[in-house]
Amino acid sequence: MTTPVYQNFINGHFLKNQSGETFAVKNPATDEVIYHVEVADAFVQNAAIESAKQGFAMWSAMTPIERSRILLKAVELLRARNDELAKIEVLDTGKPWQEAECVDVQTGADVIEYFAGLAPAQVGQQQMVGEDFYYTRKEPLGICAGIGAWNYPLQIACWKSGPALAAGNALIFKPSEETPLGAIKLAEIFTEAGVPAGVFNVVQGAAEVGQWLTQSDDIEKVSFTGEVGTGKKVVASAAGSLKDVTMELGGKSPLLVFDDADISQAVSAAMLGNFYTQGEICTNCTRIYVHKNVYQQFIDELKTRTEQNIIAGDPMNPEVNLGALISKNHHDLVMGYIDKGISEGATLLTGGKALKPDSAPNGYFVAPTVFTDCTDDMTIVKEEIFGPVMSVLVFDDEDDAIRRANDTHLGLAAGVFTKDIKRAHRVIHQLQAGICWINSYGNSPAEMPVGGYKQSGIGRENGIETLDHYTQTKSIYVGMTDIESPF
Ligand code: NDP
Repeated sequence: MTTPVYQNFINGHFLKNQSGETFAVKNPATDEVIYHVEVADAFVQNAAIESAKQGFAMWSAMTPIERSRILLKAVELLRARNDELAKIEVLDTGKPWQEAECVDVQTGADVIEYFAGLAPAQVGQQQMVGEDFYYTRKEPLGICAGIGAWNYPLQIACWKSGPALAAGNALIFKPSEETPLGAIKLAEIFTEAGVPAGVFNVVQGAAEVGQWLTQSDDIEKVSFTGEVGTGKKVVASAAGSLKDVTMELGGKSPLLVFDDADISQAVSAAMLGNFYTQGEICTNCTRIYVHKNVYQQFIDELKTRTEQNIIAGDPMNPEVNLGALISKNHHDLVMGYIDKGISEGATLLTGGKALKPDSAPNGYFVAPTVFTDCTDDMTIVKEEIFGPVMSVLVFDDEDDAIRRANDTHLGLAAGVFTKDIKRAHRVIHQLQAGICWINSYGNSPAEMPVGGYKQSGIGRENGIETLDHYTQTKSIYVGMTDIESPF
């Protein structure tokens, strides 16, 4: 059976490359190639820049209300095609349908809708300086680049294109080569909604295509989502042309469970923050610090619920709530961390093995895994695993728990479970993380800025401030009085 071959999406349509180079995309749940994609060669890259220049000229000249109206039309189309798009995400990523059907497209559409609404509300300032005055304009940056990870491909493309386009920029987006189709579908939707050709181009390929975007002198900003190590390369490369950067990187986030917490709720948060999307979420609370008074109760309930309530299998089955990891490589990496956890002395509470569900025997599944008796120096406690592997640690002193939670070079997210309102705020204020939850975990509405402290990131996505990251301020001084000149 022949599989489809997708081309790069440039200037409002598909563009054939000249090199003929393609790459294959596999369904992680079946290990089968589902389609091929053409790599963006020099011809495509050049066309992407040239059309983005033209698209930008047209798009940035429109009024914010006009842009907003077109983006809202795209939001409508995204929502109307929810199921078609959600299915693409399931087949590309291996995540469960029951998640994609209500999260991936919706949260992407929400963000475009949010920024479409904000665009016309962005205003400059005016201030008198004696009889003279100045005013400022919020102007778009020009051509921006977005580079995405594979865990939420469509959502990431929406989260980057929403503010970029609302502010009047053009965006060239490179999805991960593991999950390239969602961004293409978004490009088709933008085009159908009336976004001018060239304003949203999709280029395909691996690191080399990403590197080209970070180096290009024609690109003013790069917004990147991916690993810390790749992020550092992107920043270094972007420095060559002094590009603006937004970095959404990895995490190793702590969740602190105090002895007055609602333990069932805390277990729910820990499971969501480790097993949702089979653990492939950047904000996951992979270090769970539990107060010694409730430690046994916590791990007893955690073990029971993990063993009874998780259903792995064909991700398209709506009953399935644990999907396949993105690739065989990543699967092996995660299994390697599990081996390390065992060899370094952690106790395997549950899981710890690869799974071969009857409905998806060739998929890259890993059982939801919980390690107890963990210590702060273990590899599984220090490094981001990006799979369904939770480490549980004990504490008995608040200050010590905060110190241990902060003892990492990462700072993406953190959470606290306690019924003591003063403690909740006191503790969360001391945690070094950009995205925090009290008696909750993982929610990320469009209105809330997200981004990391320390090496987890630079800048923010979502929330009002993100629009500032896609504009530059022009100050205009207006002389109302004669110039006083010594010449
Ligand atoms: P990677 O860093 O491996 O890749 C991210 C993107 O960068 C991909 O499109 C990749 O291309 C591209 N890329 C690779 N090398 C370069 C380079 N030298 N220059 C420019 N681009 C390059 O991340 P993953 O895709 O493996 O995603 C998982 C990571 O993403 C985790 O660390 C996770 O924590 C993080 N993440 C962070 C989020 C946040 O909001 N903070 C959200 C989601 C994920 P290709 O893959 O095609 O080779």
